[in-house]
Amino acid sequence: MRPIFQPRLVNGPFGDPALFVDVLFERRALLFDLGDIAALPPRRLLRTSHVFVSHAHMDHFIGFDRLLRVCLGRQRPLALYGPARFIEQVEHKLAAFTWNLVENYAVDLGLTVHEVTGDGRLRRTLFNSRERFARCDLDSVPLDDGRLLAEPSFEVRCVVLDHRTPCLAFAIQEAMHVNVWGNRLAELGVLPGPWLTEVKHALLAGAPEDTEFTAASAGADGGAERRLSLGLLRERALRVVPGQKIVYVTDAAYHEENVVRIVNLAAGADLLFIECAFLDADATDAARKAHLTARQAGSIAREASVSVVVPFHFSPRYGGRESELRAEAQMAFGGVVA
Ligand SMILES: [Zn+2]
Ligand SMILES: [Zn+2]
Repeated sequence: MRPIFQPRLVNGPFGDPALFVDVLFERRALLFDLGDIAALPPRRLLRTSHVFVSHAHMDHFIGFDRLLRVCLGRQRPLALYGPARFIEQVEHKLAAFTWNLVENYAVDLGLTVHEVTGDGRLRRTLFNSRERFARCDLDSVPLDDGRLLAEPSFEVRCVVLDHRTPCLAFAIQEAMHVNVWGNRLAELGVLPGPWLTEVKHALLAGAPEDTEFTAASAGADGGAERRLSLGLLRERALRVVPGQKIVYVTDAAYHEENVVRIVNLAAGADLLFIECAFLDADATDAARKAHLTARQAGSIAREASVSVVVPFHFSPRYGGRESELRAEAQMAFGGVVA
């Protein structure tokens, strides 16, 4: 089976940060940061169910208006997550528009806005178009190990980094990944099909070994069905491996505390999207602006033993020198830089 997450940066490495992650088989997507998202067509934006904003510097949050405009009138609610003060910032964004006719929309749009507080809790507020987006505070909940979202098939965790303002970094972790050996299925005399998705869900849900599934027979008895137990399938044709892990890190000062937090979050990730804002020759500027250099990002990636690094958020001052930033990150990382 293919990995369920299909991530892609909305803009080139010099453009505003925004990472769109399609979730296969679920007709929805996650969005990390809301920089300029004009390049995302509405049909894609409409799939977005959860938005994770690292911090509200303009280049990470200016796309909020476009997202809101595209989603107004759609059925599905939207959940947003951000660092301290995020609820207030969304409230101010909403307050900047006039909503006197919004009740004429056929359906309501509900925004649940979550904010990670300094004392490790998650504050929550609801803004609904039916109420002209008036603020409605919900109870705050404790944040268990930075877990913002936990679903049967995946979870999203965060850590708070120092960017001279709190800035969130995120990890998406698939619960587990089920690989199917096609040749072994053939040996069991069955054909692959949608029933394998049921098998995967049963595994994720911890179903008992004697749970049975119906598959089409691969033999000459065309169209006949065979019953197979989960235990047999697991033993003979399936391999359960740790799920895909994708980590998104941007806008962080380079110091011990941040490095430890990033390394813990990114440990063993398949894919690490990490800012490489400056060349190391300009490390003084990077420190002044609380950003990472390409060398620092590469060394963090190596320490976290990630598989592939995707550098982004290059400072515009390096226009035409993209390859130098990549080379520096690659040199420090020592592995694959996409
Ligand atoms: Zn920033
Ligand atoms: Zn930035």
